Amino acid sequence: MTVFHDLLRVQEHDSAAARLRHRRQTLPELAQLSTTEDELARVEATMTEVNAASAEAARTQRHLEGELALVESKVSELDAKLYSGVVTVPRELQAMQTEGQALRERRATLEDEVLEAMSTGETLADQVADLERRHAELDAEGARLRVAVAEAQADVDRELAAELEARVEAATLIPPDVDALYEQLRARLDGVAAAPLVNGRCGGCHLALPSTEVARLRTEPAETLVRCEQCERILVRP
Ligand SMILES: [Zn+2]
Repeated sequence: MTVFHDLLRVQEHDSAAARLRHRRQTLPELAQLSTTEDELARVEATMTEVNAASAEAARTQRHLEGELALVESKVSELDAKLYSGVVTVPRELQAMQTEGQALRERRATLEDEVLEAMSTGETLADQVADLERRHAELDAEGARLRVAVAEAQADVDRELAAELEARVEAATLIPPDVDALYEQLRARLDGVAAAPLVNGRCGGCHLALPSTEVARLRTEPAETLVRCEQCERILVRP
């Protein structure tokens, strides 16, 4: 065993830690939570619109009902006058009947409009109820997912802490210059600075070393730091 074998263990722990950090950021529960929050925002925006439309429909209905009451009182007034026998001039009676007819037509139109406004109001109230139900569902789903995310992250954090602890232990005998080179290569080579040499092949770039190079490496003392000519990683001989 050389410090390079320790370095390979450090590399394994660093790679495992990188995978765990990646997993922490790409938890499926996080993606689900984001989808749920997006839908919740859409539902809230729709609720605002539907509530405004509902208030508008209620205003319209009140206005129409007010107008209808007015027309109804005019009809009653006219009828009372017509049947009281006060008016006897045929031309006046004729005029009153014509006015009465117009008022009744107006009343019929307003009654239809009130019914239509009520129907619109009911449809909108149903939509509000549906949206409130969906909002409550999404709220509950969001809460459930936040708990799931926290639990999954806590699991990852425990594994990460174990990896980092094992890394510290593996790194105790690594000389500062080797460690510095390792960190420099890791920053440049996608997190992998040390690789095993297996069957004449670099475990970092996976390319076969020329046979002359493999032969040369065999003659190098075990304590000598050797690197892959192709990817520059530190090669750890068996
Ligand atoms: Zn290589």
